[in-house]
Amino acid sequence: MATATLSIDLSALIDNWRALDARSACETAAVVKADGYGLGADRVARALNHAGVTRFFVAATEEGASLREALGPGPEINVFSGHMSGDTDMIADMTLTPMLNSAEQMLRHFEALPQAPFGVQLDTGMNRLGMEPAEWDALKDIALDLGPTLLMSHLACADDPEHPMNPQQLATFRQMTDGLNVPRSLAATGGILLGEDYHFDLTRPGVGLYGGMPFVDATPVAQLDIPVIQIRDVEPGESVGYSNTWIAERPSRVATIAAGYADGIIRAMGENAWLHAGDDACKVIGRISMDMIGVDVTDLAEEPTSLQLLGSHQSVDTLAEAAGTIGYEILTSLGQRYYRRYKP
Ligand SMILES: *Cc1c(COP(=O)(O)O)cnc(C)c1O
Repeated sequence: MATATLSIDLSALIDNWRALDARSACETAAVVKADGYGLGADRVARALNHAGVTRFFVAATEEGASLREALGPGPEINVFSGHMSGDTDMIADMTLTPMLNSAEQMLRHFEALPQAPFGVQLDTGMNRLGMEPAEWDALKDIALDLGPTLLMSHLACADDPEHPMNPQQLATFRQMTDGLNVPRSLAATGGILLGEDYHFDLTRPGVGLYGGMPFVDATPVAQLDIPVIQIRDVEPGESVGYSNTWIAERPSRVATIAAGYADGIIRAMGENAWLHAGDDACKVIGRISMDMIGVDVTDLAEEPTSLQLLGSHQSVDTLAEAAGTIGYEILTSLGQRYYRRYKP
């Protein structure tokens, strides 16, 4: 088989949720946007629901609709992007809860679906989504009359516990919501780790569930094993791969493995990335191709049949560092060609 195997450990996912739930001084939801951070929203959400999670968040209404099909009636599905034009039927038919972001979205929702549940997203300084303090002041009486399920905001710098933006956003969130008697949510993974002041009534972890930073105690969830297609010997002076960027300095053995940048293995990581054969680390050599990568296996005692890119030896964050990005991007770039195996 010339496709790599992506193993997704659902019990590690649930362990991560339980660990974040234990640190949350309140209810803990789960964020499953972008197809469950690339690991399969349906499978991930069903496993979490089975473990007791009843509130989910997605980015877009379409994601919410397909999640509803996977979960059936019951669990609450919240949509960060709110009530967009054209979404009304899907919101109603699939019983989704939009987080309304603006006066325009409020008007749209209250006119089209006056009985349907909604939350409100507030901007406390990130300037990405949500109502600003003045706008909220003007509209909150109308919104509160209709009984929002949640008032939420999002932290811009929660991955850095010392950042002054955190207490600043916390204070703004408090000013905007204290005394309103509606459930509140401010913290994603990073916010949970900032402590109880940031938790309010509901936390919304995403990346930590999937084994990524800033949750340093996370258990890895994704493991990626890539089959070796061919192994060859090269002499000193011979080159490997496009543009001859790697030239052998010693008699070498080169394994060509069956995955590349089309599978989300970011080309820019190039020779900064490592693969593992058991406990032995092997260096990527030459350019990462669309469907193949060259790996230096000269020092291995045995010829490998596959090499591991993600797993206990290399986390999504280590790989992200090699590519100059973050674990979130590694996860959400994971390729569609992989054979996906779910460990219950
Ligand atoms: C993505 C997202 C989350 C989850 O964030 P993580 O850092 O992955 O835990 C929570 N809230 C909002 C608004 C988001 O966009």
